[in-house]
Amino acid sequence: LSAEAQHVLDQIDEQNVDFLRLQFTDILGTVKNVSIPASQAEKAFEEGIYFDGSSIEGFVRIQESDMRLKPDPSTFAVLPWRHTEESAAARLICDVMDTSTGEPFEGDPRGVLKRAVDRAEGMGYDVNFAPEPEFFLFEEDEDGRATTKTNDVGGYFDLAPKDLAQDVRRDIIFGLESMGFEIEASHHEVARGQHEINFTYDDAVSTADNVATFRSVVRAIAAEHELHATFMPKPIAGINGSGMHTHMSLFEDGENAFHDEDDEFSLSGTAKEFLAGVLEHAPAITAVSNPTVNSYKRLVPGYEAPVYVAWSDRNRSALIRKPAARTPAASRIEARFPDPSCNPYLAFAALIHAGLDGIDEGYEAPDPVRENIYDFDEEKREEYGIETLPTTLESAVEKLEGDDVVLDALGDHISESFLEAKKAEITDYHVSVSEWEKERYLETF
Ligand code: GLU
Ligand code: MG
Ligand code: MG
Repeated sequence: LSAEAQHVLDQIDEQNVDFLRLQFTDILGTVKNVSIPASQAEKAFEEGIYFDGSSIEGFVRIQESDMRLKPDPSTFAVLPWRHTEESAAARLICDVMDTSTGEPFEGDPRGVLKRAVDRAEGMGYDVNFAPEPEFFLFEEDEDGRATTKTNDVGGYFDLAPKDLAQDVRRDIIFGLESMGFEIEASHHEVARGQHEINFTYDDAVSTADNVATFRSVVRAIAAEHELHATFMPKPIAGINGSGMHTHMSLFEDGENAFHDEDDEFSLSGTAKEFLAGVLEHAPAITAVSNPTVNSYKRLVPGYEAPVYVAWSDRNRSALIRKPAARTPAASRIEARFPDPSCNPYLAFAALIHAGLDGIDEGYEAPDPVRENIYDFDEEKREEYGIETLPTTLESAVEKLEGDDVVLDALGDHISESFLEAKKAEITDYHVSVSEWEKERYLETF
């Protein structure tokens, strides 16, 4: 056993962990669990745990269903909501291995991201990511189902003695901290009932692990307060939706390769090429970073979410923003289009490959746009050469099908199952009849 795995075994003993949840995600980013008693931990580290992958979304066909989970000891964490003195449950995030070849399974999203990171390392770069997942807290109805009633407005009208949302947020933060998160800040977002909790940047794989963990911790702790936390991108029309802005930088020999003191925007040539690569492939990436029908209801003008393919060092209507940085190490670019319904492993992999493609091809970044692009008319956008992001999942999927860089980022296996799953979702949506249609047409015709 490695020293790291041995350390986990010691922790299991010390913290009275009786069950271990071995976690991985399917292609849609849903966290899957296989639970094993703590007595099996050593075996799990030595041999892995075999499971049948045939019923996991986008994994394998029935005839080739045997998969092996290989737990990553660095991801050991005790689950805060199942923790008492005598008994605890912990999780370990796993890589999925193909039992027939012994190699990483190509349908494993974490493996896809690792390949993207390897490509960057081959070029001499470490990849750092920091996401800003936003979410809403909603009340549950009598049956425990989610509503779209926000709890803080309720609290306001009720003149409750305490701010309920603040309590929940505090508990969420304690939960996250106990799992090893370093929380930088938390705040109430623009919309009522909307929140954001920021954690420190890390390498891309750890950050994607963190997003997956973050979503489950927020949901579990909100549920303890009888609230439903949702990462649905646009739960309520007419107010801001929830984004997952993703801050990115490359480091080379421990130095920030995105920083250049002498540049007007303190961005290096490498940063600008990376940025240009992301802009170039953004329409195809949206299928992955904004993967639901609902995602495109967020990407409309007027709600601080991007609609146009441009970058800016000033305003929030752009797809990519260059945030002000206090130190050279903090120089980075912020992709503002991803939303928290995405599979973070796949979305990050797509962003990394697109950016690296920009470096490989030596793409030139356009000039930043400093005006509010929401106010531009078509003519002005044409003059500036500003493209529009896909406005529906359907058009994003079409863009993805035509973009080999992003398809290669996902690999054959995932591209195929991802496209299949998304097309089924689109068909499903097309045959549904919405509330809007009923309101608009039922009595008119
Ligand atoms: N909620 C906005 C979005 O949909 C972002 C607001 C902000 O700048 O944090 O992206
Ligand atoms: Mg925000
Ligand atoms: Mg932001």
